[in-house]
Amino acid sequence: MIDQTVAPDARPATVSGVEQRRALVTELPGPRSRALMERKSAAVAAGVGTTMPVFAAQAGGGVVVDVDGNHLIDLGSGIAVTTVGNSAPRVVQAVQDQVAAFTHTCFMVTPYEGYVAVAEALNRLTPGDHAKRTALFNSGAEAVENAVKVARVATGKDAVVVFDHAYHGRTNLTMAMTAKNMPYKHGFGPFASEVYRAPLSYPFRDGTLDGPAAAARAIEHVESQVGATNLAAVVIEPIQGEGGFITPAPGFLPALAAWCRDNDVVFVADEVQTGFARTGDMFACDHEGVVPDLVVTAKGIGGGLPLSAVTGRAELMDTVHAGGLGGTYGGNPLACAAALAAIETIEADGLVERAREVERLMKDRLHRLAADDARIGEVRGRGAMIAVELVLPGTTTPDAALTKEVAAAAHRAGVIVLTCGTHGNVLRFLPPLAIPDELLHEGLDILADVLASTR
Ligand SMILES: *Cc1c(COP(=O)(O)O)cnc(C)c1O
Repeated sequence: MIDQTVAPDARPATVSGVEQRRALVTELPGPRSRALMERKSAAVAAGVGTTMPVFAAQAGGGVVVDVDGNHLIDLGSGIAVTTVGNSAPRVVQAVQDQVAAFTHTCFMVTPYEGYVAVAEALNRLTPGDHAKRTALFNSGAEAVENAVKVARVATGKDAVVVFDHAYHGRTNLTMAMTAKNMPYKHGFGPFASEVYRAPLSYPFRDGTLDGPAAAARAIEHVESQVGATNLAAVVIEPIQGEGGFITPAPGFLPALAAWCRDNDVVFVADEVQTGFARTGDMFACDHEGVVPDLVVTAKGIGGGLPLSAVTGRAELMDTVHAGGLGGTYGGNPLACAAALAAIETIEADGLVERAREVERLMKDRLHRLAADDARIGEVRGRGAMIAVELVLPGTTTPDAALTKEVAAAAHRAGVIVLTCGTHGNVLRFLPPLAIPDELLHEGLDILADVLASTR
């Protein structure tokens, strides 16, 4: 299925030219990474942080190779971006062909087929079989902003409802939509107005798996504090990303979508992190058959090239006046070529099913770990988007210090893991779907060792 060339004397397989094994040949960070970190500190703005002080030289499959020759297990995918793998073969070929043909004309000046083909693919793949239109942008935040623009023009209303723990980006409007202060908002206000926050369904913390009841609570909040007649859009991540991989109780999303439909409110699914096979469906909304009015995509769309999109009901999307949507680089030809190749890879290599396999493998192991470790409050998520929430044993009190310690120890052992959550107490796993099972098992073995060593 996945392009793996097995060497004559068997393991390790090679994916995208990278041996699929973990190997540490220096301490981490090694001397070359340390020297580059010094140059970074002197040249790059201090506000641009890094999870690991290790510089990448090459990556493919489930491995990132650093500048000192260390092979790290990648359980992060560059934050859910390289779902099809780094330098996935079809993406490399498509981008090479495109870069030699032309690099940019601006779709708003002289258009090109790749943009149209990506729009057709998104119209076909996103939930629902109604008539759709797509517009392309560069980043997730930019696409979220444009979804709000469309919803406002289409409804003639202003207000936007978002949820507790939400993450929608770092631009001015999306900072207002994002929940967490540090590091995303602190000192950067004033923020855009007409953004209101509603309570989410968070089963581990609100103690209920009754999704419709949680939706009723959110809707009551919105009706009393905003009013449907003022409300243009409800914007929600079907499974929250930065907020902690919070998976709402079954029935929560369908009830919200139904309320939006009945109240002339545009239901916007921010699938920037969950989209493109990541959760074991092409889109996370598919899991419960929810059909959003607008779907925002980015991250996993382009195999690593920057691209984002808003896809939605033709009658909403087409209300915007000509020239009202766009941007110099939106739908760049290289990014479009990469997206078409990434989509082909997902479909041809069965990566939706692969994400379900990854879920089974990871959850089986993590549930066994949780069974005799009271610090693991919950194992949750879907597909290759799995998290563990760490707490003080026997409570739901977040343990951010332990989370930081575990992540740092995993990093030192050559495993790239990320943390998330409003309280910084969630370890999240976003392996590329091109990762071999052996590396997933090894990554989880290391996690288990690290957890044991911090008892
Ligand atoms: C990452 C993310 C964004 C912002 O995307 P950028 O490309 O970083 O602007 C928006 N929404 C969600 C759910 C995300 O995970």
